[in-house]
Amino acid sequence: MDDAAALMTVTTRAEHVDVLVVGAGISGVGGAYHLKTQCPDKSFVVLESKESFGGTWRTHAYPGVRSDSDLYTFGYRFKPWIGPPIAAGQAILDYMGEVIEENELGGNIRYGHKILSAAWSSATNLWTLKVLRAEDGETLVFTANFLWMCQGYYQHDKGYTPDWEGMETFQGPIVHPQTWPKDLDYKDKRVVIIGSGATAATLVPNMADDCAELTLLQRSPTYFIPGGNRNELADSLRELKIDETWIHEIVRRRIVLDQHEFTRRTFEEPEAVRGELLGGVRAFLGEDFDVDTHFTPAYRPWRQRIAFVPEGDIFQKIAAGKAAIVTDEIERFTPQGILLKSGKTLEADIIVTATGFNLSVLGEIAFSIDGAPLDFGETVTYRGMMFTGVPNMVWVFGYFRASWTLRADLIGDFVCRLFKHMDAKGAKRVEVALRPEDHNMPRLPWIDPENFNPGYLMRDMHLLPKAGDKPEWRHSQDYWNEKDVFPAIDLDDRAFVYG
Ligand SMILES: Cc1cc2nc3c(=O)[nH]c(=O)nc-3n(C[C@H](O)[C@H](O)[C@H](O)COP(=O)(O)OP(=O)(O)OC[C@H]3O[C@@H](n4cnc5c(N)ncnc54)[C@H](O)[C@@H]3O)c2cc1C
Repeated sequence: MDDAAALMTVTTRAEHVDVLVVGAGISGVGGAYHLKTQCPDKSFVVLESKESFGGTWRTHAYPGVRSDSDLYTFGYRFKPWIGPPIAAGQAILDYMGEVIEENELGGNIRYGHKILSAAWSSATNLWTLKVLRAEDGETLVFTANFLWMCQGYYQHDKGYTPDWEGMETFQGPIVHPQTWPKDLDYKDKRVVIIGSGATAATLVPNMADDCAELTLLQRSPTYFIPGGNRNELADSLRELKIDETWIHEIVRRRIVLDQHEFTRRTFEEPEAVRGELLGGVRAFLGEDFDVDTHFTPAYRPWRQRIAFVPEGDIFQKIAAGKAAIVTDEIERFTPQGILLKSGKTLEADIIVTATGFNLSVLGEIAFSIDGAPLDFGETVTYRGMMFTGVPNMVWVFGYFRASWTLRADLIGDFVCRLFKHMDAKGAKRVEVALRPEDHNMPRLPWIDPENFNPGYLMRDMHLLPKAGDKPEWRHSQDYWNEKDVFPAIDLDDRAFVYG
């Protein structure tokens, strides 16, 4: 008897559902919507370890937290977005709350339920999950036919902070934006923010007016797209009193087409795109500012995520002298601040480490298949959503260069279609498997570092499933292609094995 079967026999508390959704972030709430609307016959539950829904947008509560892509595409395809394209974290939470309420999803979501382990049994074709309930510390058991993994891609409890020499000697607080203390008082303090990504670019304009001094310290520059936080097409359509459902769809199509064109140009004419992006920054900072040192990355555009900066707010603060930028490396921390490799020092009362995430592959859940621990690094991914040797499971991993939710919706449609196909066949189990023609395929990293290489992926790429060199066995990162390919996936292809 395997572990899962043994657990089933000793407990009388197991609760069974057809589908168990892991996580109530934007992907999990979307999954619940798709299940309820497209598969009303399936029983399902969403288990969320936090006290409420939102995922990323609940975890991150630092000053000014906001999206870095537009909400027409980061919002669901089924609920119009009517606010400004770049949205505050709270506005995104409100939007998700409305989705839950309007679709009566609340009864299907259990908060304060952390999944500890998931064991697949081929004898029963069931997943058995051990779940820690926060309110009483009790370990519950759930069984499910299918796991819909919406746990995101990073550890929510702790952000990534490099281990710099002398950190313990610094006399003030060292704060990571992911775990921002509610009572952090930075008024009239000297603050150094370490980082160069969207989070740092959000913190600077939102803190600058309050701090005595604010310095952004980066090792290397990042590309940004500064621009007005409005969508002219949406505004025109609203003026014409077009229905919001139409506006949502039309504006999404426009944005997706524009982004597809932009991505194509970053590959085919990177220098021209680089010139345009830097021109946008210079327009705020003026010709005398050293854009070459501080805002000109060494890599071609789009190899790391490019954040949209509403109204160019970080550049406005720098131009107004409210914030400074330093491009240098940290030698070590000192009791008073940071000593840089150039020999300069930055004195600080508070240091903020906007230095990124710790990758989390599948929610830090201990997975096993028929009693054997599962190493996801050994599996091969089917289109970045299913994995060889892992039955009845799908993972929602969105796009880096387009809004995450575009893919969450595509996968939602795919999974519901798969369920109907399985029911029609009388299948209890589906697994992806390499076909004879795939066996000699090279095993490649989850994502090609030449294509896209953010730090959290580079640090832990070995933990992620492998890819192949055929479209079926890759996460293409290309919504433009997948929007047509996903609905047409042949569910009777030999890559799908039913039982
Ligand atoms: C500050 C910030 C801004 C961002 N802005 C954008 C943007 O503008 N556009 C964009 O496309 N992307 C953006 N991203 C990326 C963003 O994380 C994703 O787009 C998206 O929010 C991920 O949603 P998710 O539901 O898949 O995962 P998450 O938001 O990470 O939610 C996962 C949920 O699963 C829960 N969970 C995890 N493990 C378990 C477990 N074992 N048991 C129970 N529950 C569990 C977590 O508690 C969490 O609530 C941003 C990220 C950050 C940090």
